[in-house]
Amino acid sequence: MASRPQLVLGTANRKKAEELIRLLDAVGLEITTLADFPEAISVAEEGDTFAANAAAKAIGQARHLGRWVLAEDSGLAVDALDGAPGVFSARYSGPQATDESNNQKLLEALRDVGPQQRTAGYVCHATLSDPSGEIRAEIEAYCRGRILTEARGTHGFGYDPLFEVVEYHRSFGQLGPAVKGCLSHRGRAVRRLIPQLAALVDTGRWT
Ligand code: IMP
Repeated sequence: MASRPQLVLGTANRKKAEELIRLLDAVGLEITTLADFPEAISVAEEGDTFAANAAAKAIGQARHLGRWVLAEDSGLAVDALDGAPGVFSARYSGPQATDESNNQKLLEALRDVGPQQRTAGYVCHATLSDPSGEIRAEIEAYCRGRILTEARGTHGFGYDPLFEVVEYHRSFGQLGPAVKGCLSHRGRAVRRLIPQLAALVDTGRWT
């Protein structure tokens, strides 16, 4: 039997990788993550857009490993904070940031902001590089919501306990992985990327 096309997920974030693996399940690729490659490099995220960071991660890792790499850069843009934390979402509260310290800083920044002004959007830019470092597919997707005044739920990661999906009156921390996969920025990005991945495989261009 022919071996399945191989894809490396260019992320060291275990929770992100779990979500991506779940979302890509139907495509039939053999998926690994950076955790499977001790020789993987650490790519600096110095771009000022999600697109620039996703490209740097995908291309840098793909060239280094000589493999197809799907990387994504994502974050939270809060309207009342002029789009912050944005590309700095992971390290919003400083170099030693944790999800808890980031959420604490966000609550503090929005302390005097009323419910109608607490709107925000998650952004996910996903980029696929071939082993030579050429971008073969990319997509950006969004998910709108509102920042709660206290954490709710334990599912997900990052800002999920504070991110309310308004139509559901629940945070992603409360909704769990199946619903998050349907509604999230990452879910939307991957679903739009899948036809492009399938076309590369079906036409024999995934080599
Ligand atoms: P990246 O690894 O540089 O893309 O950083 C992504 C950061 O954005 C994470 O560390 C989280 O703080 C935030 N983030 C991105 N996607 C999500 C999500 O789905 N839920 C919660 N936080 C997220």
